[in-house]
Amino acid sequence: MEKERHVLVIFPHPDDEAFGVSGTIASHVNMGTPVTYACLTLGEMGRNMGNPPFANRETLPAIRKKELKDAARALGINDLRMLGFRDKTVEFEDEDKLTNLMSSLITELNPSLVISFYPGYSVHPDHEATGAAVVRAVEKIAAADRPKLQLVAFSRNCVEELGQPDIVHDISAVADIKLDAIKAHRSQTELMLEEMADKLKEKDPQTLAWINNERFWTYKFS
Ligand SMILES: [Zn+2]
Repeated sequence: MEKERHVLVIFPHPDDEAFGVSGTIASHVNMGTPVTYACLTLGEMGRNMGNPPFANRETLPAIRKKELKDAARALGINDLRMLGFRDKTVEFEDEDKLTNLMSSLITELNPSLVISFYPGYSVHPDHEATGAAVVRAVEKIAAADRPKLQLVAFSRNCVEELGQPDIVHDISAVADIKLDAIKAHRSQTELMLEEMADKLKEKDPQTLAWINNERFWTYKFS
């Protein structure tokens, strides 16, 4: 993994960072690189309330906010921005407003690498709207001055249409930190982690591959 000047991670939901990119984040933090995580919403419309349930519709926003802070702490992120959008409504936000917000973050932080979702290949409307705004903001910058834009895709057709990811990070050295970050999002992940526990213990190759490999597609501007 290259040493970066500053890494800016932009996702709409608490836990988006945990599954796909937390090993990459932890690796950058370990290299002494400042990492900013800008999270658009608190995921307050999430369907999971814990297992057994310990949240309800009223308490979920505060619980997920705390979980997000815990995950950031586990990853060593010292700059967590909670941008205050409402879960499941990012797609209805004014496009220019979203683009300008991403532009202002990039201008302020001057990152050498920006990580977000690949628009068109990231399944959830909030993911799509966030990734599209990030792409628009980076596209506005003169080509020579643009930060690298490495995006996460996971729709069924992503490999078929985008080709294989050009970047695959083996994050096994920081897999424990990644699991801590996933665990921090307890209301959403406890059940899944329980189901995964045996597979991890048995060192099931598929589960380990899923944990240890983080895949990115470098965005190609047309
Ligand atoms: Zn999400």
